[in-house]
Amino acid sequence: MLNTSQEMFTGVLMQDELFQFAAESEEPIVKKLDLPPLKLLIVDDDHDVHSVTELLLRDLTFDGYRLHLLHAYNSAEAFAILQQDADIAILLLDVVMESDDAGLRLVKRVRETLHRKKLRIILRTGQPGYAPELETISNFDINDYKTKTELTRERLFTCLMAAARSYLQLAQLEQLAYEDQLTGLHNRNGLLKAMEIAVAAGQKHTLLLLDLDHFSMLNDSFGNEQADAFLQGVAQRLKVVPSSITAARLAADKFALLSEAPMSLSEQLCRDTLSKDTLTINNITQDVSFCLGVATTHAEVSSSETLSHAYMALKRAKNAGIGQTVIFNDAMVEALRERVGLISSLNKGLQHDQLYLVYQPQFNLKTKQIIGVEALARWVDDSGRHVSPAVFIELAEQAGLISRLGQIVLNKALKDCGELCRAIPGFRVAVNVSSMQFKQPDFLQQVFSALSDVNFNAAQLEIELTESAAMDFSADTEEKLRQLRAAGISLAIDDFGTGFSSLAYLEKLQANCLKIDKSFVDKITESDSGLRIVQTILALGQRLKMRVLAEGIEYENQLQGLVAMGCDEGQGYLMAKPMMLNNLLEWPPIKAQLQSAER
Ligand code: C2E
Ligand code: MG
Ligand code: MG
Repeated sequence: MLNTSQEMFTGVLMQDELFQFAAESEEPIVKKLDLPPLKLLIVDDDHDVHSVTELLLRDLTFDGYRLHLLHAYNSAEAFAILQQDADIAILLLDVVMESDDAGLRLVKRVRETLHRKKLRIILRTGQPGYAPELETISNFDINDYKTKTELTRERLFTCLMAAARSYLQLAQLEQLAYEDQLTGLHNRNGLLKAMEIAVAAGQKHTLLLLDLDHFSMLNDSFGNEQADAFLQGVAQRLKVVPSSITAARLAADKFALLSEAPMSLSEQLCRDTLSKDTLTINNITQDVSFCLGVATTHAEVSSSETLSHAYMALKRAKNAGIGQTVIFNDAMVEALRERVGLISSLNKGLQHDQLYLVYQPQFNLKTKQIIGVEALARWVDDSGRHVSPAVFIELAEQAGLISRLGQIVLNKALKDCGELCRAIPGFRVAVNVSSMQFKQPDFLQQVFSALSDVNFNAAQLEIELTESAAMDFSADTEEKLRQLRAAGISLAIDDFGTGFSSLAYLEKLQANCLKIDKSFVDKITESDSGLRIVQTILALGQRLKMRVLAEGIEYENQLQGLVAMGCDEGQGYLMAKPMMLNNLLEWPPIKAQLQSAER
């Protein structure tokens, strides 16, 4: 490496007339000096090379950008500087320093560990024999390779100019790829990248996801422009949250903050900075209220996974109400995983006929006669576990399986009970229909084809709809109910009293039966108010000419109370638990009823 600086210098002198010194040129290139300077890091173990390079580059500008020179004298020092300063544009790097390939090793670390893709690299070496392989040049995206003698002032300028332009282009592309246009914050990609860099640096960081409360209301009432300005105002505040290293906007009113502070502190800093004062934009003053989902970065967890953890927490926070914070924990992943597993196993279960029905008898409380049965779905999953219908019905609704499930139940129930219904006139089969199933466009068709498939008497079918499903006041609902009535199918309002009742609509609904929810039956013997609720429902049933059936009767005194109040019908463990079809058919009270029907 000896003499290289002198050789360079000679080169400079020889080519002098070719250079454009900014200060001397007639039309100075110095135009855009308000732009931040481009940072150039010179790495060389030869001190002379630094001073010569500095001399060569003095007063040069590149497309209006001044250069800001930084110096390192070995690769460790260079790495430390690069790690500290993400804005270095060009690396002018000596290949042979403390070892023959120290420069190349540095390049590898910079590209692979620091993920500096924009950084342009020009390799210099004193000895031509140390040229890197072509493959290395392309793998590590090395811009140029020059021996030091080659790098005259002119060539150095040309070479740096090319590097500067390519750096600026990459920077622009990066801006497009990583920046949110509205707020200038990072976008999702930018956030993920920042997280990756933070994780690579080996520190734990806190990721906060924010969702603004009532943002759509703001949008609706004041218009897009005002809403955009509000988002920009929030973004301004996010930029200055202490301890935060990156702020991003991920979707309309969803923001993210990557903070170096631990969870509780970063939450507090974020809330203090954003919500302490109201935000006034175009004379409209708004509170900055938001929900937070919080997660921590981990070396073993990918950035996008951490982001999805924060999303899970945020979703729960939003469900909990405005201004809430939820911190992610592993149980949430477990719950989600279990859910996904359960959905796929329910799907399989439906395909493989794993679903079966049990039947719970319903009674006339005065005569003790069995008036019918309620069909209740049962499912045992692959592992042999009994999953509660309360769980799998909701799951089926959310996974879009409810229509198929409902159809299976309806078909099975009508097939199972066809004979029983033919043998005992007036015997009813009640089938639960979830509101989502009821809203399917082909619901009526499902019902009518199930009836005709087994030639079932429509008058012996009762459909149980929950209050909220029956009361959605839509024309579609009314029309469906009308057609069911017209076919002679009866309608029961399930879990009555737990939903929202409009007396006027209840009248219009012309349902046949109100099923008093178990929670009220439980209260009959507990309190006067419990008793009064049941009395009210009974009076309502009488007025609207509906049967009233009490659910979940477990105790004799409940039964006595109901009979005394004049409740017509009931169902509960006290009289009979749900049972399999063969047990039902063998059940003595049913057998007795079959025999008396024969006579
Ligand atoms: P539901 O329609 O109100 O059904 C009554 C529930 O109360 C049934 O629970 C029944 O087993 C239970 N039950 C009856 N008597 C007693 C009692 O004396 N004590 C107690 N503790 N419980 C009693 P199950 O079978 O677990 O069903 C729960 C809910 O799942 C049902 O409430 C219904 O909403 C839904 N479901 C069950 N099968 C189906 C179905 O085929 N389709 C739809 N859409 N929903 C269903
Ligand atoms: Mg029911
Ligand atoms: Mg019920």
